[in-house]
Amino acid sequence: MDRRTLDRLASIVGEAGIVADRMRRLAYESDGLTLEREMPELVLLPRDTDETARCMRVLHEAGIPVVPRGAGTGLSGGATPVPGGVTIGTARMRDVLEVNASDRYAIVQAGVVNIAISRACAKHGLFYAPDPSSQKACTIGGNVAENAGGPHCFRYGSTTRHVLGLVIVTAEGEVLDLSHPVADPDGYDLIGLFTGSEGMFGLATEITIQLTPMPAATQTLLAIFPSLDAACESVTDIIAARLEPSAIEILDKLTIQAVEASVFAAGYPTDAEAVLLLDIEGGELEVETTVKGIEPILARHGRLELRSARDAEERERLWAGRKGAFGAMGRIAPDLYVADVVVPRTRLREIVRLATDECTKRGLKMSNVFHAGDGNLHPNISYDRRDPDEVERVLAAGRAIMQACVDVGGSLTGEHGVGLEKQEQMKLLFSPADLAAMDLARVALDPDRRMNPGKMLPLRACMETRTRPIPGGMRAEEARP
Ligand SMILES: Cc1cc2nc3c(=O)[nH]c(=O)nc-3n(C[C@H](O)[C@H](O)[C@H](O)COP(=O)(O)OP(=O)(O)OC[C@H]3O[C@@H](n4cnc5c(N)ncnc54)[C@H](O)[C@@H]3O)c2cc1C
Repeated sequence: MDRRTLDRLASIVGEAGIVADRMRRLAYESDGLTLEREMPELVLLPRDTDETARCMRVLHEAGIPVVPRGAGTGLSGGATPVPGGVTIGTARMRDVLEVNASDRYAIVQAGVVNIAISRACAKHGLFYAPDPSSQKACTIGGNVAENAGGPHCFRYGSTTRHVLGLVIVTAEGEVLDLSHPVADPDGYDLIGLFTGSEGMFGLATEITIQLTPMPAATQTLLAIFPSLDAACESVTDIIAARLEPSAIEILDKLTIQAVEASVFAAGYPTDAEAVLLLDIEGGELEVETTVKGIEPILARHGRLELRSARDAEERERLWAGRKGAFGAMGRIAPDLYVADVVVPRTRLREIVRLATDECTKRGLKMSNVFHAGDGNLHPNISYDRRDPDEVERVLAAGRAIMQACVDVGGSLTGEHGVGLEKQEQMKLLFSPADLAAMDLARVALDPDRRMNPGKMLPLRACMETRTRPIPGGMRAEEARP
């Protein structure tokens, strides 16, 4: 980067907002997909919309690519830097700007950590419903960009159902103010378009989110099973019976053992083949009726034991074990590849078995902890990235699992996004014309494709079908990192 551009950026964000030193930039070279690494040219940490817009204008003039970054907990390489690119982090945009309890919304800066929102509005009897397991670290901006899910999204819906408004800074440094806290704003649904756009449509700086009243009653159940098959079949039948717990999660034996050996130990039985963790929420009567509907289904599938959390403390502990599960996997191997795929709930057992076979035949260690109610599987492969042969086998297993999910009518990602990881697999789901339409939507907001280039879209496939010249004139090769 030339000196003049660097000086202009420094004058906008000040010393505290610029990370130029190589050692400090190291912390930004990957997200949770640690297989992909690239050193950012520079990291900027603006404090608000105005500073972000001014930085973006300078970077636009200099033609420099930009990668937005929240907490870097993403698992698909979405926040991985691009060569010669600048990473713009939201770590200094951490203010809750407004909590409006009467109209049940909050306006927050993009760098606010997910759980901090629920903490800020708890005194009003409200909470922010989407609860990724990473919620103690991930930011609301990253959640919006990935359309994040979480255990309780089974009942409440993923992020997109909870975003009411956005302030977006475009690649050219324009500010789009789409912050209208009403249910159905006029005009095109640009908020829906932006949610899940993986940092490629601009940088969100402020987010208006819907708040949800805390349920009157909650019952947490832990069902212990003699087999993973039986746990999966129970979920399929609970869904088919039209019962609506707010969360249904499965943990298998290897996961349970890793959790119990870690600081997240929750009291799961280490000899169980699988457990189902369920939250049932609502009015007292609704909870009672739903539990009565679920119990016989669990019994029919041979559950060994059914525990009910006695109090809020035990409930917290059971959920802390689930939410700490990925972290606990560090006990199994130094690295973890978290696959994220979706299948129809009637195919859960079949695909869990298939994923196990794909890993076993490649000599890989795989465990399962997943949002079973949503059909959102996470086959987690523990590996050591210093072993290139093992890395190859991990990636091959990941590809085979994705293909199988698509074959049964599922999809490539339930919540972690496509990022760098699943670009090529997009062609399994979408035709070149579909991909070209997505690319057109993108260039409407970012004509030069400078926002997070090389992510999500297999660009060559989009361009092959294009009949009109691409605004900005960037060729596929140039847009890839
Ligand atoms: C232990 C663990 C558990 C997890 N559990 C879940 C889970 O249950 N559900 C789930 O959905 N995910 C989960 N994840 C994945 C991850 O936490 C989510 O994808 C989360 O939404 C990422 O937020 P972040 O702030 O870390 O974003 P980052 O990783 O920094 O970025 C993610 C993407 O968002 C873009 N981005 C970030 N901020 C902005 C912004 N302000 N404007 C525009 N684009 C932006 C980035 O460019 C990137 O493409 C988990 C991850 C870990 C490590």
